[in-house]
Amino acid sequence: MPMQINMPRVLDFLTGLLNTPSPTGYHQEVNAYLYRLLQSLNFPGLILKETTKGALLVTLEGQQSTSPRTVVAHVDTLGAMVREVKSNGRLLLTQIGGYAWNAVEGENVTIYCIRNGRRYRGSIQTVNPSIHTSKEMRKGKREDERMEVRIDARTKSKEETLALGIDVGDFVFFDPRVEITDTGFIKSRHLDDKAGVAAMYGALLALREADLQPRQRTHFFFSNYEEVGHGASAGIPPETTELLVIDMAASTTGEHQNSDEFSVGICAKDSTGPYDLEMRRKLIQLCEEHNIPYKVDTYPHYGSDGSAFLRAGGNVRVGLIGPGVDASHAYERTHRDSLEATIQLLLQYLLS
Ligand SMILES: [Zn+2]
Repeated sequence: MPMQINMPRVLDFLTGLLNTPSPTGYHQEVNAYLYRLLQSLNFPGLILKETTKGALLVTLEGQQSTSPRTVVAHVDTLGAMVREVKSNGRLLLTQIGGYAWNAVEGENVTIYCIRNGRRYRGSIQTVNPSIHTSKEMRKGKREDERMEVRIDARTKSKEETLALGIDVGDFVFFDPRVEITDTGFIKSRHLDDKAGVAAMYGALLALREADLQPRQRTHFFFSNYEEVGHGASAGIPPETTELLVIDMAASTTGEHQNSDEFSVGICAKDSTGPYDLEMRRKLIQLCEEHNIPYKVDTYPHYGSDGSAFLRAGGNVRVGLIGPGVDASHAYERTHRDSLEATIQLLLQYLLS
């Protein structure tokens, strides 16, 4: 029997999370959001703390503590930082995380001034954005020096922009453009990995509502440096005997891919190598037993917090599951069925 999942509440949580900016390196705001929402579950015995590096760690006592587990998802996302205030008053960016410029071309952004906390709006475009004035517009290469932010403030010079309080090192947040359609699709930037974080929240909520405890003491680790490769390389509780990573099943429309937007993806291998076989078999078995739709897949250009943890010397079994995400690291899409399947599998894992 699949467990009851309160999907409306999970989708509200996800929408709020997606609308809270959290490019790698800027996690205070999202941690406050998570802290508030997790506290409001009123879970008896739930312990929340932040690691020195700024990851949120939540611990839930289990029926046993003979082989404690850790579940991890990352709250950090792609974004950008100001690299130069240009002589025309516009901004040259440096990328946070890996993506193609055309995936954010035309996107509205918020510039967050780290010195005074001010926020300005703007848009990312090429240096020749108008088709009426430039032949380059269609064919010009989308690379760092050919892209800029047009700020929605009156400035035509470097001095005027600096006077606004904008300077090198300020963060740039991309508008997520969250939309949930009446056909059940969830469209937004940063579903990687906020849909995974929502799966963790959904599982905690379901346990709370059913008044259940996980089988083993379980840590929920909300990693904050995954997109740059070292999220879970530190801070995973040393007592952990098994690590389950919740991250997207990428590129559901990619050629040769097996994932889809309606089931939970179980990763067999990514670019850093195979995940633990015994865990994969167990996850598949849980799906079979509980009628959870799943797809096993491999991801050729992908690494996860599991890889970061193992490379840093992690010595436990690692598995990876997640919702199927289309157009990963661009304007992403998944379906509520995929999110629900991920929550179901996570729940069954926690209870097993
Ligand atoms: Zn991810």
